Amino acid sequence: MTQDFYCEEVLSGRTEVEIVMETDNVLAYHHTQPSYEHHIMVIPKVHISSFISEEETNDDELILGILRVIKKISADMVERTGASKIVTNLGSYQDSKHLHWHVISGERVT
Ligand SMILES: [Zn+2]
Repeated sequence: MTQDFYCEEVLSGRTEVEIVMETDNVLAYHHTQPSYEHHIMVIPKVHISSFISEEETNDDELILGILRVIKKISADMVERTGASKIVTNLGSYQDSKHLHWHVISGERVT
C-alpha cells in the first residue's frame, strides 16, 4: 500500500478508474475495491493531505468545489438507492494521506 494512493496511482493514471464526474479541480470515480454495493470516491486533483490539514493553503473555493461534486453524486445515489452516506476519515482513521471522501450506499461487500 502506497502512502498516497490518490497522487501516486489515481491522478498519475497508473491505476485506471471508472470516472463518475470530473471538474477542473475534482475527480469522482468508482472505488477500485468497493466496500459497499455503491461506493464512489471524491478527491481533489491537487494534493491536500486531509480535510483538517493546515499545511496547504486553505482554499475555500476548492473545498466548495469538492462539496458541490459530493452533493450531485450523493443526490444521484439517493435517487437510485434511496439512501447515501458521506464519509471522510481523519487522523488514525485516514489510511491514505490525500483528502478523499467516500460516498456510499447499500450493503457492506468486503
Ligand atoms: Zn496526494
